[in-house]
Amino acid sequence: MSDSSLRLVWIYPDLLSTYGDRGNALVVERRARQRGLNVQRVDVRSDQPVPTSGDIYLIGGGEDRPQRLAAERLRQDSGLPRAVDNGAIVFSVCAGYQILGHEFINDLGQREPGLGLLDVWSTRGEGARNVGDVLAEPDQRLALPTLTGFENHQGVTHLGQGVAPLAHVTAGGGNGDGTGTEGAWRDTVFGTYLHGPVMARNPAVADLLIKLALDVNALPPADTTWYDALRTERIASTSRQPA
Ligand code: GLN
Repeated sequence: MSDSSLRLVWIYPDLLSTYGDRGNALVVERRARQRGLNVQRVDVRSDQPVPTSGDIYLIGGGEDRPQRLAAERLRQDSGLPRAVDNGAIVFSVCAGYQILGHEFINDLGQREPGLGLLDVWSTRGEGARNVGDVLAEPDQRLALPTLTGFENHQGVTHLGQGVAPLAHVTAGGGNGDGTGTEGAWRDTVFGTYLHGPVMARNPAVADLLIKLALDVNALPPADTTWYDALRTERIASTSRQPA
């Protein structure tokens, strides 16, 4: 973070942006601007280098083949690991989350190396895809309200000792490994299966990333009327679904 300028990097919109994950960049950008921050947003296509000077990096979900291509390019480009070494914040969704781990199963059915930025690894679930709305109670240390989101994934993610679950599901599959956990995090690196986009349904997550970037405990209030209406509707609807 330099003076009052927040550098927001959206990685590979051409490969990883399913189910409106682009909205995460829009919401982080808007909520930062509402706090008077000057936001420089950089959308990094997969044929471009990942800058190392960002404050917040966002990576979305994707189909199996684009996910493999994105992993190949991100392994060749050391920008993201270097940014994390510099203390950058990374928030990843679904395919992006799997790529941040040690490995996942690619579209060819092979083990594909990830970046190892999160101590997780993903396998291919044997059962039905996890598809539908999710409710999850976040790690209390993050001081976030109930998370609501939409998931659609065949991958199952297993957590190692080096991460904590982002949340525990009360509806939906989440990591799908039989532990009831959803997502993972360590320090400034986060992964989740939640689309929605997750920031639109949970603006407190966007605010958390901004607070981490500013290294502050609180932000000036910003209107959440629209987000609250969406949250209320989605949480009520998901709570009514049979388990
Ligand atoms: N292709 C991955 C899976 O099915 C991720 C899907 C996604 O990002 N929605 O597990």
